Formats: sequence, C-alpha cells, structure tokens
Amino acid sequence: MSVVPVVPSPSCEAVRPRPTVAVVGAGAAGALVAIHLCESAARRRIPLDLVLVDPAPEAGRGAAYATEDPELRLNVPVGGMSCYPDDPDHFRRWLCLHGESTVTARDFASRYRYGSYLAGTLGRAVIAAHGTVSVRRLRTRATGCADAADGGLELSLADGATVMAHSVVLATGPAAGRAGWAPAELVASDRFVRHPWTPGALDAVGTSGDVLLVGTGLTAVDLALALDRPGRTVYAVSRDGLLPQAHAVAPLPPVPPPPGLAALPLHLLRREVTRHVAATRRAHGDWRPALDGLRPEIGRLWQGLTDDERAEFLGRDASRWNVHRHRMAPAAAETIARARAADRLRVHAGRVVSATPHEDGGLVVSFADGRELQVAWVVDCTGPGLAADAGGDPLWSGLLTDGLAAAGPLGIGVSTVRGRLLDGRGHRERPLFTLGAPRRGELWETTAIPEIRTQALEITQSVLAGLIGAHGGRGDTDRPAGSGYDFPPAPPGGPSSLIDDAFSVKQ
Ligand SMILES: Cc1cc2nc3c(=O)[nH]c(=O)nc-3n(C[C@H](O)[C@H](O)[C@H](O)COP(=O)(O)OP(=O)(O)OC[C@H]3O[C@@H](n4cnc5c(N)ncnc54)[C@H](O)[C@@H]3O)c2cc1C
Repeated sequence: MSVVPVVPSPSCEAVRPRPTVAVVGAGAAGALVAIHLCESAARRRIPLDLVLVDPAPEAGRGAAYATEDPELRLNVPVGGMSCYPDDPDHFRRWLCLHGESTVTARDFASRYRYGSYLAGTLGRAVIAAHGTVSVRRLRTRATGCADAADGGLELSLADGATVMAHSVVLATGPAAGRAGWAPAELVASDRFVRHPWTPGALDAVGTSGDVLLVGTGLTAVDLALALDRPGRTVYAVSRDGLLPQAHAVAPLPPVPPPPGLAALPLHLLRREVTRHVAATRRAHGDWRPALDGLRPEIGRLWQGLTDDERAEFLGRDASRWNVHRHRMAPAAAETIARARAADRLRVHAGRVVSATPHEDGGLVVSFADGRELQVAWVVDCTGPGLAADAGGDPLWSGLLTDGLAAAGPLGIGVSTVRGRLLDGRGHRERPLFTLGAPRRGELWETTAIPEIRTQALEITQSVLAGLIGAHGGRGDTDRPAGSGYDFPPAPPGGPSSLIDDAFSVKQ
C-alpha cells in the first residue's frame, strides 16, 4: 500500500473531503480500534479515511506480540483473546484455519501467533471495507496533537508532516518505565537492559553469564524462560519476591462476587473479597474462579474508592492482587518450576541499593539487606511507568502541558470518560480518545485484551457517532442477525494492494 502524501503544510489541508480518523499506535489496541472502525464504518456505510501512525514495522504486534520465541506464550487462554467480545471463539477458529487444527479455547497460543492474528484480522477488515474506508499507514511517531481551527485535531509527526483529523485515538500503550528504582551507576552501565521488550534489547545478553531480573511479574517470567540456559543462573528479585500464580490446567467458570461491593470502603471491600475467595475455594476447590468473577467489576470497584484508598491499595494490596490476577500459562509454570528445582532460577525478596562494575566486565549488585550478587547483566522487569508521560514521549508531555489532557487519579495515566480525554479544565468536547494503559488510573485493570477490545468497540461507536453528526451516514449499528465473524476469502481481483507489509500475516 502506498502511503498517500500527508499534509506538507497546514494550509494544504483546507479541504477535508472525507472525515479522517487518526489512530496513533498500531499495537494490539490500535489494531483493534482499526478493525472495529473498518468493520463498523463499512457496515454503516460511513465513508472515512483512517490513518494509522506507528513506526513499528508491522501492525498488531506492539511490545507484547513481536517476539518470535515460540516458548513465549500468551498469559490469557485462546478463548479470552478474540478480537470480538461477542464472538469469543474467533481466535480459536483463526488458529484452526492456520495450522493448529486441534487447538482448544483453554490452550495458550504463542504470542507471535496472536500478533499474526491481529494483523490478519486487520488486513481482512481493510479489504472488506474498501470503497468505504481508505487506510493509510504512516511509519513514524506522532509528536504532538493540537486543536485545529475547525474543531478537529492536528497531529504533528516526527517526519515533519501533519495529519488533520476529525477524531484522534491514542493507542500508544503503556509509558516506558523510568527505572526510578535503579541507582545511577546501574543506569549508566552498558550491562543494564532498561527496556527488555525493545526489539534486539536482549541480543547482547547472549547465552552465558548470570543475569539479575529486577521485578518478579510476568515480564520476569518471560525473561526467565527466554534466558534460561544450562550453566547460567537467573536471579529474580522484587520487594516481596512473589512470582505470578499459574492458570489452572482445567479452568472453572468465573464465580461472580456478591452484589454491593462497589459501595464499600476499602477495608470492607478487602474483607468481602477475602470472603468471596474463601467461599469459592470451599465450594469449587480453587480460588481462581473468584478472581475471574471479580474481573469485570474491577473498574467500578476502583472508581468507588477515594484517592486515599487507592493509594492504600497500591501500597498494601496491589502486589498480592497482581500475582493472583496476572497469571502465567501452565506450561510456563512447569518450566519455571523445573528451572527453580535445578537452581538455574532463584527468586528472592530484595531491594537493589547499588551496583558497581566488576573487573571481569559484569556488575556487583548490593541489596538493602547487605547481600551482594555478581552478575553479567541486570534487566529491568519492573514494568511500565504509571504517569502518561513517564517515558518522556513528547506527544503525551505536550498534551499534558497544553492542557488537552489531565493526569488521572494519583497521577496514573490520564482522565477520561468512556475513553474520551478530559482536558485540564475537566471538559470533554474534543474528539480525542485513548484506551488501554493510559486509562489505568481510572480503571486499574485495563491493560489486557479482554478489557482493551471492549474499549476499542466503545471508542469506535463514539467516533462514528461523531462522524454521523458531522458528515452523515447510516445510523444503524446492528450486525445482521446470525452473521458471524468468518474468514471470507479476499474478493477476487480485490484491492490486494491495500494489504502492504503492515498487514501481512507472518505465521
Ligand atoms: C510481554 C507482554 C506479554 C503480554 N501478554 C498478554 C497476554 O497474553 N494477554 C493479554 O491480554 N495481554 C497481554 N499483555 C498486555 C498487553 O499490554 C496488551 O495485551 C496489549 O498488547 C497492549 O497493546 P497496546 O497497543 O495498548 O500497547 P503496545 O503493545 O505497547 O503498543 C503501542 C504501540 O504504540 C506505538 N506508539 C507509542 N507511542 C507512539 C507515538 N507517539 N507515535 C506513534 N506510535 C506510538 C508503539 O510503537 C507501539 O507499537 C502482555 C504485555 C506484555 C508487555
């Protein structure tokens, strides 16, 4: 697909023949928004130009689904990863059609395959919407977003171009972590891997030399799996030294919590959740269905807390919540257990206080309790930053500075109402949306596909409602009864040129 020249100067964009929707970020969240926009706009015959802005080579992968390591599996079963909340079997059917004929909804597919699924579904949506929706993919970063004179928005791009858009969706994922825990000498060391999911970041770590992972969540689990080698010890430390729990091999259905939790203050909520978990364990022999039943409620429970209570939750409960809620696949848990039994993986509670270079090129890391560890590499697995501008992205810094965005509760993410950004004055008229991690302060649980796909649908409806108001189009939203999300062949002689390598499906 050739990229239609973007506006070289603002004056050239005086005429906007069709409404333009710009989606910034083409990871999972951006791909899901683009899929739903293409499909809904085509169904409702709302013509639009969709501009997808991301420097990444392929759409749909982002940080999570770019790894080609087949050992790295999804941490949500196949049945929870469909693009369509109302068609949970869609991903499983795609896997069946693409070489995994025996896959079940309970299996854990490879992360790379999931990226291929998103890219493939997007490619099909683009083809099917051809004639109504035109899609441009711009491989660059968005560096700024400002009000346009006509009520739309003007995106500035790193290559100097601008995009004028009727609506903008910021699907930029989590902000990079600041490694605020790391002592200055560690940050300065070339033996410190600060962003392990940046492509190629782990290449230098190679196959020998001990490694210290700081953080013991799912990122640490992935890296422990990826870096595990005979003759190497991988250490993982965090404040509490707790690894994520494992998914059940044969999961039970979610058990909904008792009603009325949203009205409770934190101390009573904690008590009721503990009771719910204990009752579920007694009745079903497993605590997991209790947490799975709570999951759809989390946004409402979080919103019912005061800021002080949220801060208390972060200090006292979040770590325990995370290890039970963000679980690893059973196969990953088995490999981790084997590595621990063989002493190739050691997990500790601890806090890094200093790191000094060792004469053999590695680092000697000191912990608050006086222990020392000599390792070849230290990898930051503490996860993303909480503030929207934590990673220093000029797009988010500019939005916050210019008052088009406002920090979310406790400074986490940004404030939104149903995904629409609140500005510094609390107004929400701008057609500016976000989803996923930037909504964490508002929703707490918002970074996994089951939440992101629902948000993508909600944003699609809001964006298209705005376009209908401004430009016309059919207002009916319902899919014809009985129609599923199948995998029709591309139309013969159809617009295959629409599918450039951005949407190609590497399996
Ligand atoms: C290692 C890992 C494994 C995971 N596994 C699972 C799982 O199994 N199941 C699950 O449900 N969730 C999983 N997650 C959670 C994951 O966060 C979501 O599933 C999802 O991938 C988030 O997608 P995203 O598009 O919001 O963010 P990202 O994947 O971070 O994508 C954001 C994209 O935006 C682009 N971007 C950022 N800023 C700009 C800018 N200024 N201009 C242009 N482009 C920009 C980036 O280049 C990137 O491509 C995992 C997360 C990680 C890190």
